[in-house]
Amino acid sequence: MPEILINGQKVEASAGQTVLEAARAAGIFVPTFCWHPQLSTAGNCRMCLVEVEGRGLDIACNMPVSAGMHVLTDSPDVQAHRKAMLQFITLNHPVDCGICDKAGECSLQDYHYAYNGEPSLSVDPKVRSTKYYNLSSRILLDNERCILCLRCTRFTHEVSKSMALGVESRGDVSVIRPVADRPLGEDPYSDNIVDLCPVGALQSRQFLHKTRVWYLKPTPSVCPGCERGCTVQIWHRRAEWRVQALDPAQNTSIARVTPLENPAVNGPWICNKGRDLARIFERTRAAEPMLGGAPVELEAALEKARELIGAARRPVALVSSWGSNEELAAFQRHLGAVFTAFVKCDARPEPGERIEDDLLIRADKNPNRAAARALYADAPATLPEGTDLVLVWGEGCDFGALPRGARVIFLNAYLAPENGHADVFLPSTIQTERHGHYTNFQGVVSEFQPCFDRPAGAVDAEALFKALAAPARVHA
Ligand code: SF4
Ligand code: SF4
Repeated sequence: MPEILINGQKVEASAGQTVLEAARAAGIFVPTFCWHPQLSTAGNCRMCLVEVEGRGLDIACNMPVSAGMHVLTDSPDVQAHRKAMLQFITLNHPVDCGICDKAGECSLQDYHYAYNGEPSLSVDPKVRSTKYYNLSSRILLDNERCILCLRCTRFTHEVSKSMALGVESRGDVSVIRPVADRPLGEDPYSDNIVDLCPVGALQSRQFLHKTRVWYLKPTPSVCPGCERGCTVQIWHRRAEWRVQALDPAQNTSIARVTPLENPAVNGPWICNKGRDLARIFERTRAAEPMLGGAPVELEAALEKARELIGAARRPVALVSSWGSNEELAAFQRHLGAVFTAFVKCDARPEPGERIEDDLLIRADKNPNRAAARALYADAPATLPEGTDLVLVWGEGCDFGALPRGARVIFLNAYLAPENGHADVFLPSTIQTERHGHYTNFQGVVSEFQPCFDRPAGAVDAEALFKALAAPARVHA
């Protein structure tokens, strides 16, 4: 364990660590653009310059620790060179922060104010480059903002392995460009480069000029797109910045989804499906309880459901593999003794979707089948002989395959033709409206929190199960 001094503080480094890693582990901040803990070392931005007594200035990201070295991260020499590097990096940068989506979370903006703060020294016109270069249907590139840190190219070479990006030309006309025959649009992890880009050069089309990041708040959640259960942040409008007139839908919609770093599950990455959770959660909702397709009050629907349960001789439940651990426990507690329960597959791969790979994406497109399977067996192709009542919880059930003549109670959150075909239909809440946990295929439990209010009419499945077991007043 080599011991080094950083700014006079003793630091126990590990063998093989770089000075940058040792400093960060000791809580000493050293600025970087190109360095990233999950990518190879490029050493091209020179922002992590430090001074080593007796050796002068060098980059900390590529300097192995050696016993007894004395590192200064903020000496006058380091400060002067950092300032010079920022002058150099911004030489041809448009500094168009006022229209840049990265403003508010841009390292260049932050470092400029922390370590430079001066206007450009250059008297020459800036070198112009491509704006709005179309990298894929999801991502635009602004070459004028690019500082050529090469995080994006290294990501496609080392993590997603699509090899989709490279550098074209040299000097001040160098540009990031797609590699021929390797379309970035076919990389299901491509949007990670938007997060990785330390400046606003890579822009998400979904998010482009929609809002400013300081109007948004992240809520921790879990992607339900497959059994990996990546932890994510769902970004939505802050209460104090609610839009009153222009577009109130912004107050209740997902602005963007980013990874919530989690070494036990997904590291710092998610796939593009996780970015597109609005496509799942913002489908048209079912808001009214129904009896045979006709809207009724919730109490009337529950009363009828209880009557069907009481009269059934062989009731079967198809349990959702999108239900949370708490909902599964509530089902087991209130109705487990009444129904013969099986686990239903709620979601299957969509056409064109990557089924599985060795990075994150799993073939099972349900977030909590592991927890449901710990309680019940998978649903058979044909339900047991004599089944006369089926409680269907969640999506993915082929109503045409249910036993002929069996009565159906259906819990679903979204508008669907099957809602009207059930004897009793009960509208339920979705993940973004409640608190809960999923257990992924490796047994890791992750928490999701509510970001939005329940819409009128939707009820938590936990409350519905309780009310189905015994008459109790339920508020929609
Ligand atoms: S586009 Fe962004 S991530 Fe890629 S090289 Fe330029 S600054 Fe770095
Ligand atoms: S790998 Fe699975 S859980 Fe992770 S973001 Fe993609 S779809 Fe969601």
